[in-house]
Amino acid sequence: MRKYIFVTGGVCSSLGKGIAASSLGSLLESRGLSVCMIKIDPYLNVDAGTMSPYQHGEVFVTDDGAETDLDLGNYARFTSSPLSAANSITTGQVYQEVIRKERKGDYLGKCVQVVPHITDEIKRRIYSLGEQDGIDVTIVEIGGTVGDIESIPFLEAVRQIIHERSRRNALSVHVSLIPTVTGGELKTKPTQHSVKTLREIGIQPDVLLCRIASEMEDGMKRKIANFTNIDYECVLSAHDVTTTIYEIPVVYRQQGLDKVVCDRLDLPCKKDSFSGWAEVAETWKNAEQTVEVAMVGKYTELGDSYKSIDESLVHGAIANGVRIKIRKIDSELLTTSEEAEKALEGVDGILIPGGFGERGINGMVEAARVAREKKIPYLGICLGMQVQVIEWARNVLGVLDANSSEFTPDGENNVIALLEEQVDVTQFGGTMRLGLSESKVLEGTLIHQAYGSGAVKERHRHRYEVNNAWREQFVNSGLIFSGFTPDGQLVESTEWPDHPWAVGVQFHPEFTSSPLKAGPLFRDFIAAIL
Ligand code: GLN
Repeated sequence: MRKYIFVTGGVCSSLGKGIAASSLGSLLESRGLSVCMIKIDPYLNVDAGTMSPYQHGEVFVTDDGAETDLDLGNYARFTSSPLSAANSITTGQVYQEVIRKERKGDYLGKCVQVVPHITDEIKRRIYSLGEQDGIDVTIVEIGGTVGDIESIPFLEAVRQIIHERSRRNALSVHVSLIPTVTGGELKTKPTQHSVKTLREIGIQPDVLLCRIASEMEDGMKRKIANFTNIDYECVLSAHDVTTTIYEIPVVYRQQGLDKVVCDRLDLPCKKDSFSGWAEVAETWKNAEQTVEVAMVGKYTELGDSYKSIDESLVHGAIANGVRIKIRKIDSELLTTSEEAEKALEGVDGILIPGGFGERGINGMVEAARVAREKKIPYLGICLGMQVQVIEWARNVLGVLDANSSEFTPDGENNVIALLEEQVDVTQFGGTMRLGLSESKVLEGTLIHQAYGSGAVKERHRHRYEVNNAWREQFVNSGLIFSGFTPDGQLVESTEWPDHPWAVGVQFHPEFTSSPLKAGPLFRDFIAAIL
């Protein structure tokens, strides 16, 4: 029998369910089990691709080009679960499929309903991944909070799976909050109520992860166990950590989460190769030096907008045995050269991340100029590479109105322009250049040195490219184009001459970096800073 674990959240959102699910995945993998991670998002969007990073945080891209919820990024950083479009399930996808079948006549004669048709489609999607060859445990994270209207069909499907497979093969893990009220007193009541809500739906949680400011005392654990019908050893303290999120698997392991889960699910729990995670946490703790990198973008107000880049910088720092501080700068505030120089004072490196739309572009160009002129290590990702090219055109070639046709469609000097295949695209969802593809990089360049190979495979998510009509002028003036699509048609990476370290890439190296194996560009960016 395949095993299933369902992770739900109670009391409020943003409790770190994704990190909890991912940490559990990493613990089971270190026990020699193979894990498949699934995220369920109860919203009606078919995927996360059309949502603003302000609303929903970063859009994570998989190898097959799916635009998914950022939790898939956590899964990728913590586990080696296969991740593709199928691992991200939304209400939009489920209804789209059921309505498609209804129109086709698959349910002819029947009244199509939430139960059983929607719940059956949800179960079909979960089982189709969970029953694949080579998968021992499937961990399904249900987005949202228990009690929300949107998640009811998903929780009903979970209840049915636990019933069909029995509690020996399907487990419920609930992540809840123990808040502090005025006066510093900790309160267990919201958790009791959230478990009660879950029980009303027909799900008795087996394991409870209590989010709490500092480690939970034994008396409180016993009280919660008693009131929620959960065994004492299955009530765990999920307290805040002071280092990085990579310490969380360590915290859960100390309390025996892997053991409890393996016992309940009757899983062999022999091997234990956990040391990598402990080492990551230790490296961060013991690091003596801290480097500071400025991230100059337009979505800086929301912490999760550049989640994978933030994490990749941490990975790069860990790979170099140092800590990192990220100074997030809203590019819209850099309206003059002086402002840019002032805002960037004292930083050790400058990173310009991906983005869409014109707002804040000139500030990014100013930041790139500062990096180039003051010889500060620079990493440009997607839009950050396009900005590097625009900056060169404006300040080295002297083409003052150089821009991208994304921002000035009728401009005369669009050095970044629309891919030809994109010209007639009218729909927004899932229509960009998306997913994994190979770039050929030239020997003797920084990017070749970083990857140690002439073939680099990373994921894309963009519509615009370096305009080939300008390529010769750029090369003649000294700008280095270091990587191309295999047919040589499109520029994939750029570098500055006479500069300690500057790489711009049209792809997104942040989607494949992990704490156990830092992305090569992040590792070398930090190394160059040091
Ligand atoms: N907006 C730019 C484009 O579509 C860059 C996209 C990105 O940074 N992901 O090409």
